[in-house]
Amino acid sequence: MLQFIQRVQTNTWRDLSKLTKTTQITTIEVTEKKTTENARLENPLRDDVAFARILDAYLPPQIKERAEGELAALCEAAVSEQVMDWIAEAERCPAQIQHWDAWGVKKDELVTSQGWKYLWQYGISERLAALPSLDQEYEGYGRIIQLLKGHIYGPSSATSGFHLILADGVAALLLSHLRESKIDKSTRALFQYAYDRLTSPDPQKGWASGLWMTERGGGSDLTPTETTATYSPLSPDDDSKDADGFPLGPWVLNGLKWFSTGTEANMAIAVARTEKGLSAFYVPMRRAVTVDGAPTTELNGVRIRRLKKKLGTKPLPTSELELNGMRGWLVGKEGKGINEIGIVLNVTRVHLAVGVVGYAGRALAAARAFAKVRKVARGTPLSRVPLHMRSLARAHVAYRAHMMLGFFVTALLAKSEQQKQPSTPAVLELVPKSSQDASCLLRLLGSVSKASAAMDACSMTQCAVESLGGVGYLENEEMAFNVSRLWRDAVATLIGEGTVDVLATDVVKVMKGKIGSYVMAAFGRWVKATLPSKESLAPEAAIMTQQWAELQTAISKNSMEYLTMNGREIMDRVCKLSTGILLLADAARDDNPVAIEVARRWIRPTTLLSGSSVEQELMFDQQIVFGNQPTWLGEP
Ligand SMILES: Cc1cc2nc3c(=O)[nH]c(=O)nc-3n(C[C@H](O)[C@H](O)[C@H](O)COP(=O)(O)OP(=O)(O)OC[C@H]3O[C@@H](n4cnc5c(N)ncnc54)[C@H](O)[C@@H]3O)c2cc1C
Repeated sequence: MLQFIQRVQTNTWRDLSKLTKTTQITTIEVTEKKTTENARLENPLRDDVAFARILDAYLPPQIKERAEGELAALCEAAVSEQVMDWIAEAERCPAQIQHWDAWGVKKDELVTSQGWKYLWQYGISERLAALPSLDQEYEGYGRIIQLLKGHIYGPSSATSGFHLILADGVAALLLSHLRESKIDKSTRALFQYAYDRLTSPDPQKGWASGLWMTERGGGSDLTPTETTATYSPLSPDDDSKDADGFPLGPWVLNGLKWFSTGTEANMAIAVARTEKGLSAFYVPMRRAVTVDGAPTTELNGVRIRRLKKKLGTKPLPTSELELNGMRGWLVGKEGKGINEIGIVLNVTRVHLAVGVVGYAGRALAAARAFAKVRKVARGTPLSRVPLHMRSLARAHVAYRAHMMLGFFVTALLAKSEQQKQPSTPAVLELVPKSSQDASCLLRLLGSVSKASAAMDACSMTQCAVESLGGVGYLENEEMAFNVSRLWRDAVATLIGEGTVDVLATDVVKVMKGKIGSYVMAAFGRWVKATLPSKESLAPEAAIMTQQWAELQTAISKNSMEYLTMNGREIMDRVCKLSTGILLLADAARDDNPVAIEVARRWIRPTTLLSGSSVEQELMFDQQIVFGNQPTWLGEP
């Protein structure tokens, strides 16, 4: 962080901060008696038990030790005043389109705030899209470290994290082609250049990419795609180049893309129709031109029609784009574009699953901080109010469950990507040794984790909004406690990269369709291998075994149509089963009493008022919310 700020200062930051000061509205100082002590967000590495347990479960000690400094610095930065100021600026000044220049020439350029740019650049410098660099340093554990960082930085990125997620997903697509021997020399050079930019840890070099699929006719279903691509190579004497000096591609795209979050990207992967069907194209955003004898660049046959006005993700420029003679390169085989997009979504969905749980984690951190200082009911701290703690404990149990699933799916993704195994196994060996079983689980749980995390994160962030009372509903300038923003942003993940129902449909297809028997068998082997055999956890393990048997019967006895109609229930059962097993395995690792209680509450069916002791249950609720030994609670 310090290095990044120093770099920013040597460029423009100092001048900018002066500018901000001179343009600030004068405030009238009123001295008022404080009714609530200032709440303070803590460094998540110290304050978030779920995060700490993930580090212990998924990283071997020597990797954890090596990564701790880097993670601690990011955790500190993520809740720092500097980053909060940048978020506030990004929220206050969302992107705009400048349609005309001073001389009446049409330009349609996107203008974004400095705060937004710094947050994006800071994310690049933290290697959030630089997987090769992380993998090299952390010997195959780069994916886990990257997602740990994404989880922490996402809610601090003012949604610029979406650029990093997409850069990473598109890099995975380009890498899959760079590993092929068949691509021609010029395409290889172009893809390698783009790959190096997308995965660069240097903010001056790092790129963003768009992923253009959705049109007015549909986003879930791309068959109505109207954008066309025609093969029409440049004439031999035409040496038109893109902004980076590569020849413009032989395909010409025309159409309208209805949603693009990559408006300010350097390139995009666009879906367009050719004679052979839906195909994927690499399109550079800008091309080189000469104006009045001077070299410059302009948009490559694409026009920003308008920016979308959204409920959340406000700083993220999402636009409608008109493609009019945009030149690009075919990616993969003509007519097989959906497969290419699948490679991107395979990665971005895992990011979204972990990322949206990060939003929930931050909102719950705000609720914890508030509960420590707020007094209600004639001076009782909220942290001692049993009903309040019960609600927060319920949200924290869900948070821990989704953390376990999100990082399990991350570990599956890491295994699928690695050509050789990590040299040291993780502490908790949850990932199947068989690559085929791991792929089957990834195919199933990728969709489950993204959709379920999105739904539950909306409830968890909403719980935080409610927990902060009236202040929770406000658009606070203090971004650390603007939990409404976290809720608004979380809602977007219910829709982007596959809506909940579309993913539930996919889950049923994976379990019942062509690969269903392999997936069910792989899942069964994993359930058996992962369920702990400890006597103390036997009742919960029995519930899981019973639920797995019920799920198998439901899948085998019912038709695809009936299962699809009940897709959400099926998806919910897979989510409950996998998260339950993961929580049990985590609890069995060290017999931590709070981890055991979390697993029990998540797994056991709710019965009305099954306990009896307020004091004992309150103590557990407080420990679930604040950690094992909340020393600051003091004597009751
Ligand atoms: C903030 C934001 C950013 C976005 N950025 C991009 C971007 O960069 N690039 C891009 O291409 N798109 C982007 N999108 C668009 C997004 O991918 C689509 O909105 C999404 O895929 C849904 O498509 P749709 O809007 O056409 O809704 P539809 O597909 O029409 O869905 C409407 C409803 O029908 C349901 N439904 C659809 N199909 C089925 C089915 N088979 N079975 C059951 N139910 C079904 C859906 O669940 C939904 O409830 C963005 C959207 C948002 C909100």
